[in-house]
Amino acid sequence: MSSPLKRLLGPTRWLDHALQPMDPGLYTHGSGAANPDLHLRYLGTAGFVLTGGGRSVVLDPFITRPDLATTASGPLLPDEEAIRRVLPRADDVLIGHSHHDHVLDGPSLCRQTGARFIGSPDACNVARAAGLPERQLVETQGRQEIPLGEVGRCRGIPSRHGRVYFGRVSLPGSIPSPPAWPPRFSDLRHGLVLNWWVELGGLRVVHIDSADFIEEELSGLQADVLCLCAIGRAWRPGYVAAAVRLLKPRAIVACHWDWFFTPYDAPPRLLPGVDLPGFVAEIEAQGVQAVVLPLDGGYGFSAAGG
Ligand SMILES: [Zn+2]
Repeated sequence: MSSPLKRLLGPTRWLDHALQPMDPGLYTHGSGAANPDLHLRYLGTAGFVLTGGGRSVVLDPFITRPDLATTASGPLLPDEEAIRRVLPRADDVLIGHSHHDHVLDGPSLCRQTGARFIGSPDACNVARAAGLPERQLVETQGRQEIPLGEVGRCRGIPSRHGRVYFGRVSLPGSIPSPPAWPPRFSDLRHGLVLNWWVELGGLRVVHIDSADFIEEELSGLQADVLCLCAIGRAWRPGYVAAAVRLLKPRAIVACHWDWFFTPYDAPPRLLPGVDLPGFVAEIEAQGVQAVVLPLDGGYGFSAAGG
């Protein structure tokens, strides 16, 4: 991008302000079970921290959130200080795919905390580019059980990336070798897409971080809690109904509804095309609890229900 265009997009942040702000009235009241077996914290985009059995499992952390102009003109430098402040601890970091809003902060978080970085060969090449040592990497093609210490386990479920704006999959392709570091937006192809099945604190969580999934890969699994990409409903017909039919969750936690070019602690704005009230209504019509959390908000689940 030319620097005049960057100057125009950057300081004025006109596009951020043109987007609809999140209505705080849409957030779920309360914080769930009083003595939860599993606590879930939302980080914006598809990011979550799952805490159970004394272990902290982080999915798709993305705290840096460079503005649109920086994202378009690159390079994308993780904000080490912000990552440290928001996520002082992690044991395992699971990556769903290798687009920048899913993978960028994972290597830094692992370096800072000593956590394992668990992801596809593409995601692991991003971690290698960032200088993360091999001993912290767990590379998987999915369909393989990976222990989470003594208290849980996880499994990658092969998936596919949604066709989003203009019916296109953005930045398709793989990352066959470590890219330049810091990377540019266009270096971070989605690579192998994995949904995650995680068992922790006696509960099963499925994390779907994009706007599509493969029904055959999900069939036979069950989730107590499903973290589901809210923008997916706009792009895959029957998205919510199919996910509920396959996984039979008791609760769905909305993710990927926020415009991820604004700072982590700024009032969130909605991704163009996302309809959160419609998403919630469709979940509730299936007899499932819908949970919508603010960035940094948390919710507790007990293994006994509730
Ligand atoms: Zn993506």
